[in-house]
Amino acid sequence: MVKLKNRMQKNNIENIRHSFAHLTNIAVRKFYPKAQPAIGPAIENGFYQDFGNLNISKEDLPKIEKEIRSIAKQNLTFKKELWPFRKVVDFYKKEKQPYKVQIAKDLVKEKKLTKLGIVRTGDILVDLCRGGHVKNTRELPLDAFKLTHVAGAYWRGDEKNPMLTRVYGLAFAEKKELDEYLAFLEEAKKRDHKRLGQELDLFSFHPEAPGFVFWHPKGMLLRQALMSLHHELHRKAGYQEVSTPILLSEDLWKRSGHWDNYKDNMYFTKIDNRVFAIKPMNCPGTILVYKVRPRSYKELPIRFAEAGEVHRHEPSGTLNGLMRVRAFRQDDTHIFAQPDQVEQEVIDVIRLTLQFYRIIGLKEPHIELSTKPEKYIGSLAMWRKAESTLKKILNDLKIDYKINKGDGAFYGPKIDFHVKDSLGRSWQLGTIQLDFSMSERFDVTYIDKDGRQKRPVIIHRTVIGSIQRFMGVLIEHFAGAFPTWLAPEQVWIVPISDKFLSYAKDVQQRLLKDYPALRVVVKEENETLGKKIREGEVQKIPYLAVVGEKEQAQGTLSPRKRGKGNLGAMKIDAFAKILEKEIKEKN
Ligand SMILES: [Zn+2]
Ligand SMILES: [Zn+2]
Repeated sequence: MVKLKNRMQKNNIENIRHSFAHLTNIAVRKFYPKAQPAIGPAIENGFYQDFGNLNISKEDLPKIEKEIRSIAKQNLTFKKELWPFRKVVDFYKKEKQPYKVQIAKDLVKEKKLTKLGIVRTGDILVDLCRGGHVKNTRELPLDAFKLTHVAGAYWRGDEKNPMLTRVYGLAFAEKKELDEYLAFLEEAKKRDHKRLGQELDLFSFHPEAPGFVFWHPKGMLLRQALMSLHHELHRKAGYQEVSTPILLSEDLWKRSGHWDNYKDNMYFTKIDNRVFAIKPMNCPGTILVYKVRPRSYKELPIRFAEAGEVHRHEPSGTLNGLMRVRAFRQDDTHIFAQPDQVEQEVIDVIRLTLQFYRIIGLKEPHIELSTKPEKYIGSLAMWRKAESTLKKILNDLKIDYKINKGDGAFYGPKIDFHVKDSLGRSWQLGTIQLDFSMSERFDVTYIDKDGRQKRPVIIHRTVIGSIQRFMGVLIEHFAGAFPTWLAPEQVWIVPISDKFLSYAKDVQQRLLKDYPALRVVVKEENETLGKKIREGEVQKIPYLAVVGEKEQAQGTLSPRKRGKGNLGAMKIDAFAKILEKEIKEKN
């Protein structure tokens, strides 16, 4: 019963949203009679309506929105009729609406219909539509709707087709929901990593290399702080670091299966008439390192870590700040294990991953198990075995997970760790992939107790995944206010005036003597104290330590902690101790 009610409510909100799309169609064509409407579906949180032959911008939306409200107040009814196909086509040809003609033709061709659904909105609009409306425009909640923006969209989503203009709107059942959603968007904007990346001077993008990140000094400091935690945990867990080339020859990729299964995402180049690919994954290089000499069962498991730079082609329309790029560093490790070691290794990786996220303070990830995709290598028996192994581990650990059918890597099933960004979009970070195929393809072996050559299982795993993406999530999660251990600049020493600059530098040196790893900057600029403090707040610096006459006389400093305020004057070594403790505990 509850379910049924929910479904009705959901239906209803979709009807509301889609009805607004019809009104957008009417309103836009009142101002721009030559606009050619295409589709206008309900979407999450609202709707959109596409138009050909329309060139408008955000500034035009208020008048259109006003018109929609006034149309709705005419209490128009939505009425459905069935028209013969010919009548529909003739009507839209006469109306000069080519997209509607196309939709009608496709419907007849694909669904073998002879009659098509037409919806009238009062006497104003005749629209080709499969239905799903409110009965009368008076039911539309006019205080819970808003046109938001305009964007380009290809007809049928295909870049070979003409670019249409898409008008987006939000629509909810009640004003309260709209207000909440707008507040959420506002908060998300504050946390947007692209904006913060610029404000905090962390990274940039340039037209000279679309989809490739340029890291600035502070971005590198943040990245190094993150990776030093990563190294520490991995070293303790028995990982060994290797590094392999970015360019590897074509035959290697044919052997690995990437050529057949991943070529469309790869970049190629020629050297001395030989074709090379820029690696999209680190696996084959690492496997060559494993194979330099025979390996004994006593050495296994071998955990070769390589945070290598990989390149993967993504269509330009899908690029999105740090979240989706064309080159990223991935904290890969390939674990070569005996079959009976696999379970424990996977369990250890899951624990390590969750520990890493917990230390950083990310929200609990949700976990997905991805199974055999359409393009795959290896036998079905191998896949079944690998999938059931992963399932058993997750069940034994009592971890909740969702099955993601057909989304595994082409060489094996995987466990993925997903975390949400500020807009609630979910991103895959870590992954654990079980692979029984690559060791056959590359003839990877170890010598077992009985003296026989056997094949190890290869576990491909990342904790961070793409370091670029992880940092995007991190920036949004903390809204740029990083905990002290991560902050690119941890302390600013701010002299009250030039007179105390040399004392400020003394303080810096003494802090560094007590604590050499500290990232401490003296603000030398000849600005007022107030201005420097404000800048420090905008830059979200964890500690701003002011020094002046009194501090110099007493050999102290007066730190202000971000979000906490003034801590009062204290001795330099006392401050160093506070910092050291906080950084060590990663609070
Ligand atoms: Zn409709
Ligand atoms: Zn791999």
